[in-house]
Amino acid sequence: MKPDVDKASGGSPEVRSDEGGYRSGGTAEEGPKPGPDRSERMQLVVGFDYNVRSVIAAYRVHDREMLLDVCSVVSERGFAPKLIDVGEGEYYVVIRGVVEVPNLVSYVKEGLRKFVEKYPFVMRYRDVKVERGSWAWREIKRSCRPIPSVFSYVIELVEEYGVVPNWLFVYDLELYLRKKVRKWRKWYVVELRKLLNRLMACLNRLSEKYDVVAKIEWLPYVNVRSEVTDRVRGWRYTKLMRALVHCTRKGIRVVVIEPAGTSRYCPVCGSVTEALSYRELRCTKCGRVWDRDEMAAINVARSRAVKYVLK
Ligand SMILES: [Zn+2]
Repeated sequence: MKPDVDKASGGSPEVRSDEGGYRSGGTAEEGPKPGPDRSERMQLVVGFDYNVRSVIAAYRVHDREMLLDVCSVVSERGFAPKLIDVGEGEYYVVIRGVVEVPNLVSYVKEGLRKFVEKYPFVMRYRDVKVERGSWAWREIKRSCRPIPSVFSYVIELVEEYGVVPNWLFVYDLELYLRKKVRKWRKWYVVELRKLLNRLMACLNRLSEKYDVVAKIEWLPYVNVRSEVTDRVRGWRYTKLMRALVHCTRKGIRVVVIEPAGTSRYCPVCGSVTEALSYRELRCTKCGRVWDRDEMAAINVARSRAVKYVLK
């Protein structure tokens, strides 16, 4: 009995203290290490940004060899690298991964036309007019809750094909829209996951040679509106963050930074930019024209305002 107890009582704390010692020793050693011991391993900082349709990554490259490495790894996985010179010897390789899914609204509209066109002929009438504020108008509006921006299109279709907008049609319409939106979302998730897999594979490959630090902005609840497309935005961010934490190798660092002004200030001279169009920004001082997302990704990569260290 006694040795058993001894083992149990002596064993587990030992293991624990060992583990704890190893871990704390590891991190404590890692702190001062990078300077002297890891001198041949260079740091590769990657900034991430995203928008509705794409995820953008900016790799900061320090020399020619690093540039070639990043470009070859990235283009092996189907991205087109673009070199951006920020001045004073700072170079970034920027890639843009696009989620290969059609726009939600146009996808739903396309299906809606078929849906109304094929609606049973018995339920049609020659001249249907949906008065503004009438029962049918209100009910159709309510049925369009899954995606409100198609409402006026539905009214057009109903009048064009002469479908009688009774309660049955309204009911069918709502079911149809819900189904369509759900289907699109599933599709989107699959495509986004494919894209994130490719992006993380790049990081993992590069981490064999470099100390990779991935940076991402802290924007979980920004711009969440009622439309489905915007609700997607919230979980897109979470998915990107989760992929960075869980689908990357052990040595890779993941840092969340403060989002202050990343899509406002010019990386070259640091002054405010003005919008030329939704995509393009121009610096008010040096006059350089930037792509909004590429500029944000570069600013994220440069930022030192660390909010959380996730990994
Ligand atoms: Zn500038």
